[in-house]
Amino acid sequence: MKPWARVDVPPLDVSIDIPAISLTNSKTGLKEIVPNKSLYRIYVCGITPYDATHLGHAATYLTFDLIIRLLQARGAQINYVQNITDIDDPLLERANRDGVDWKELAHSQIDLFTSDMVNLRVIPPTHYIGAVEAIPLVVEAIEKLEEKKSIYRIDQDLYFINSPESGFGELSQLTQSDMAVIFSERGGDPTLVGKINPLDCLVWMAQREGEPGWLSPFGIGRPGWHIECTAIAMQYLRPDEMQPELIDIQGGGSDLIFPHHEMCRSQAKTLTGKELAASYVHAGMIGLDGEKMSKSKGNLVLVSTLVNQGIDPMAIRYALMSSHYRSDRMWDDGVLSLAVEETQRLREALSKDQVHVTAGVITEIVSALADDLNTPQVIVSINNWVNLTLAGSSGGDAKVFANSLDSLLGLRF
Ligand code: ZN
Repeated sequence: MKPWARVDVPPLDVSIDIPAISLTNSKTGLKEIVPNKSLYRIYVCGITPYDATHLGHAATYLTFDLIIRLLQARGAQINYVQNITDIDDPLLERANRDGVDWKELAHSQIDLFTSDMVNLRVIPPTHYIGAVEAIPLVVEAIEKLEEKKSIYRIDQDLYFINSPESGFGELSQLTQSDMAVIFSERGGDPTLVGKINPLDCLVWMAQREGEPGWLSPFGIGRPGWHIECTAIAMQYLRPDEMQPELIDIQGGGSDLIFPHHEMCRSQAKTLTGKELAASYVHAGMIGLDGEKMSKSKGNLVLVSTLVNQGIDPMAIRYALMSSHYRSDRMWDDGVLSLAVEETQRLREALSKDQVHVTAGVITEIVSALADDLNTPQVIVSINNWVNLTLAGSSGGDAKVFANSLDSLLGLRF
């Protein structure tokens, strides 16, 4: 699939030293230094296109956009892969419920998602891969798992055995019983008769009546979700043989830690004997007015709705940065109106002939970002600079600061 439009990232104007970057690894729960490298391999799980981009999605992709900007500012190349689960149960259920063709639903939602990403100036992936186009890769991965005796059948469906040797459970650190509960809540089938381990996951689903299917050596059917990401990551990120892990970062929302990323990790370990990612990075969930934001509650705030209401996408981007990426947080009108107000003041300050000195604030922003993307601290630094500028302080160059905001934070005014 074609990625969305390229985002222009200007190089930093000033010769500023960017410190080593630390990110919290969900597997250890610790802030860890990202090793210095010339090329990073990053996989971020994409959407299932049956509802448009809500603020939770936007916050997740913004997180990895900021990481990529920072790594690039240090001179590194990035191979960034994102998938689109353009065939899966939720998509078919929604299409069925609304009486629309599943392909049309997927296309229309992918279009909406990509236009939201463009509006928010989120850096597109290097490779943007749909589940349907990845079917040959999934088939190949399942065949390899079969050779390793890690696949079994229940009727015509294929399941992957999550063995203890694959390190299953080490990412989420959940107990077996908690895993079974969450697995069930998130589309898994722990109580299905015939399973070797209740937490084994579906990798190939035989075609059901009235549903689409694709030819494979295992019969007509469609891929499971977890193996889709495992196969795409391994093909498009071309792991470095010399590195102990296959890729540098696997990312997504924190609701993907279990079961999705645990399953991908287990499959990759079984296939290669290696840890999937050096670091697992996850963005927190966003709620609305004190409640969890979810499709079932019908309280999703969509980026496209806000943009259609005339909200500046840069204010949405800024509002999402006002909380730390890892925190579960609430969204309400106050969060957005504060961001609108502060971005207006920032715009006003940037338009002044005389502005406060900029070297210090740029250093502060870089240091805060390098410290596990401390964007709330970034906002404090920006506001201090704006206050001093609007109070008449001078000695800086507005163009240099505007360029840095664009380069590091994707804020272009
Ligand atoms: Zn995924």
